[in-house]
Amino acid sequence: MYKIAVAGTGYVGLVAGVCFAEVGHQVNCVDIDEKKVDMMKSGVSPIYEAGLKELMLKNYTAGRIDYTMDYQSAYKDADAIFIGVGTPEQPDGSANLSYIATVARQIAESVEKDCLVVVKSTVPVGTNDKVEQFIQDFLINDVRVEVASNPEFLAQGSAVHDTLHAERIIIGTESKWAEELLQDIYKPFNLPIVSVNRRSAEMIKYASNDFLALKISYMNDIANLCELVGADIQDVAKGMSFDERIGSKFLNAGIGFGGSCFPKDTKALDYLAKQNGYELKTIQAAINVNKEQKTMLYKKASRRLITFNGLKVAVLGLTFKPGTDDLREAASLENIPLLLEQGADIYAFDPVGAANFAKVHPEGCHRKGSITYVSNVEEAIKDANVCFIFTEWGEVKEVKPSMYKDLMRTPLVYDGRNIYSIDEMGQAQVEYHSIGRKTVERQNMKEPNERELQSIRS
Ligand code: NAD
Repeated sequence: MYKIAVAGTGYVGLVAGVCFAEVGHQVNCVDIDEKKVDMMKSGVSPIYEAGLKELMLKNYTAGRIDYTMDYQSAYKDADAIFIGVGTPEQPDGSANLSYIATVARQIAESVEKDCLVVVKSTVPVGTNDKVEQFIQDFLINDVRVEVASNPEFLAQGSAVHDTLHAERIIIGTESKWAEELLQDIYKPFNLPIVSVNRRSAEMIKYASNDFLALKISYMNDIANLCELVGADIQDVAKGMSFDERIGSKFLNAGIGFGGSCFPKDTKALDYLAKQNGYELKTIQAAINVNKEQKTMLYKKASRRLITFNGLKVAVLGLTFKPGTDDLREAASLENIPLLLEQGADIYAFDPVGAANFAKVHPEGCHRKGSITYVSNVEEAIKDANVCFIFTEWGEVKEVKPSMYKDLMRTPLVYDGRNIYSIDEMGQAQVEYHSIGRKTVERQNMKEPNERELQSIRS
């Protein structure tokens, strides 16, 4: 059993801390956000992740995990301090390392015994060398502090499972002491460990994330071509998936990748390459394709409709993917402002992300349009003129095609996640636009009602 401190209780830090406690370590989680710390102490998880709340409660009750803002007491006698603070994108695309620097300084001023600092945050290659130097420069006590890289590969929505059953744990160290200590900490997980040097570990994280981002953008690019030449991207993906060299995952076309990692990690690697005098053309292409893809459906719908002004627009799904309350870089954040600016009256449904979205776009009237948050799909699509599907939540996938026909004013659906079969939507007489597949054309639409006639006249 080791005494572990974790800096940052976001998706990475909190899940890591809870899982370390679950396998028997003594964990103290540090955050600067008082509200978060109070919530966690009272057994409430500040983020939504399946299974997290239960493990927090179990390990807190067992006395294996605690939460604090007092970093000094947490860091001073820890065997290892894991850093999981954010490294967000800066305007030039580079990673903002200021949160890492703050924690490094706090560690240097607190540690009273030898300890290993383990960076879980995604940081550009070479950062951990600097973090180690930075800590040495500010150390107050005469103790040994080394820095190791241990990038995180969890996916939001399945973070706890991904941590307890990780496909591999990457550890990047520069000494036998650091390597053995980190291997020992991870021993109870009984998972494959790949031990490399620090810079290779840092690069493995970016190379992995950017490869996945590239795979998504590649499929989206092919999907757009499929639409033009009459092929079906889902059939194409199915055919490709049998080839083991390609693999069957990450072949789904859609409205682009979002979330806190792929967008910033592609830009950060591109920035790092440029700094080193190299053009990463493949990654630049992935970034550009994704930018276009995010508003693909909005552009299609804008061509199809004369105006969004005065139309009831149903939006199903706000988060960047199902299973999380995270909105970072979600397609909804790009499309909803465009719709509001065009005067749309938006009725949005998301089973967990609505409260977070309302912080950015409060319920009520906006300059031209309005936004209302509803608690189920039916309320969103009832009498709607058009519906956008941005996130494939189970609650959305359960909606039968006939419901769009029965409830909407005009059964016109733009699906960014290819949830429905073309044939079923056709049989239900829904006009259906998706990604990389043929459009199910307009069928027996209802006449415009008085509200629509008025908005057209105005
Ligand atoms: P997050 O923004 O959800 O959480 C960061 C937390 O750090 C916040 O709670 C913040 O209050 C806290 N913090 C900031 N400064 C602090 C300090 N000095 N001391 C203690 N706490 C402090 O971030 P996240 O999504 O968990 O990502 C963290 C890192 O992990 C990033 O580098 C990210 O790229 C990487 N990563 C994220 C994921 C993911 O799915 N979210 C997956 C793999 C890797």
